[in-house]
Amino acid sequence: MTANNYGFDTLAIHAGQEPDPRTGAVVPPIYQTSTYAQDAVGAPRLGYEYARSGNPTRDALQECLAAIEGGRRGLAFASGLAAEDTLLRTVCRPGDHVLIPGDAYGGTYRLFAKVAENWGLAWTAVPLDDLDGVRAAFRPGVTRMIWAETPTNPLLNIADIAALAGLAHEYDALLTVDNTFASPYLQQPIALGADVVVHSTTKYLGGHSDVVGGALVVGNDELGDQLLFHQNAMGAINGPFDAWLTLRGIKTLGVRMDRHCDNAERIVGYLSEHSAVETVYYPGLETHPGHETAAKQMQRFGGMVSFRAAGGMQAAIDICNRTKLFVLAESLGGVESLIEHPGQMTHLSAAGSPLEVPADLVRLSVGIESVDDLLADLEQALG
Ligand SMILES: *Cc1c(COP(=O)(O)O)cnc(C)c1O
Repeated sequence: MTANNYGFDTLAIHAGQEPDPRTGAVVPPIYQTSTYAQDAVGAPRLGYEYARSGNPTRDALQECLAAIEGGRRGLAFASGLAAEDTLLRTVCRPGDHVLIPGDAYGGTYRLFAKVAENWGLAWTAVPLDDLDGVRAAFRPGVTRMIWAETPTNPLLNIADIAALAGLAHEYDALLTVDNTFASPYLQQPIALGADVVVHSTTKYLGGHSDVVGGALVVGNDELGDQLLFHQNAMGAINGPFDAWLTLRGIKTLGVRMDRHCDNAERIVGYLSEHSAVETVYYPGLETHPGHETAAKQMQRFGGMVSFRAAGGMQAAIDICNRTKLFVLAESLGGVESLIEHPGQMTHLSAAGSPLEVPADLVRLSVGIESVDDLLADLEQALG
């Protein structure tokens, strides 16, 4: 069931997950094995030889990922960053150049600045919402990829996926979109022209803060084959139990995202009126500079909300320390609400760089609890 004639929620529940042919098990089993018996030399059953190269639980997840992103092939990895690293070393060579967002996820920035650069990959950080700026930074024949993240973490800036795809393809470069914040329920980058979708499945796809994982989805068979080769050759795969947990999470992605969006909208309305809040960042706000583009390419605006505290850095830190229901923690996209101070937590590695975030910034991952309880918690924390 990979054809896109089914609706999103049907694919999320069924793609790659036909009942087990041997036992009828409705849920794909966890094939916790490292190797497979072969019928004769050179004759593995169903093509499975060794679990780095292939595992049926991982295959189920990969097929589902491809279906829900509208891609040709999905690949699952041990983490989002493992997926990113595999992608970079599959499509880029030393000497190539990549454009990355002016406020990329901290770990993505670190991968470019501290790992890929040592390996010979050049990169430039540019605000991707400024298309003239992107064009000016583009080095024809050298820039191999535009790396977009939309909405961005933590400032929720919006990049125009279709416009960036057009620009990249003009120069035979690739457009990669980190779709972690939106999830495929809200945004489908491949249909908008992107070549590669990246996920930290740790976040909304897993959805329960109980598993770390990453994914790549591509719309092109040849690139899919190259990535499959590198997935095995580099070995950054996830284990079968992690694949199973992620697959289980994906089944409810649609209903969870709707509730994340409902709750986030209520909280944005509340924060926008509060005197302890300076600015609210949410692409659903008409005052958000990327609102029009977001409305064009997203179904709704997601569960991530950032805001600047009126009293500066200490006020932001105090708010983070005072919430009770909003758990003070890194990560995002789980059913429970989280709060964090990006400057001291998730984005500490970007301090002193062009990607440094404002010191008075607070980031919320709005969960799916009863929204009145979330509002009451914020009320006591904002004081
Ligand atoms: C968390 C995250 C990543 C990295 O994923 P891991 O699973 O933590 O390795 C990449 N991009 C974004 C937008 C993220 O939020």
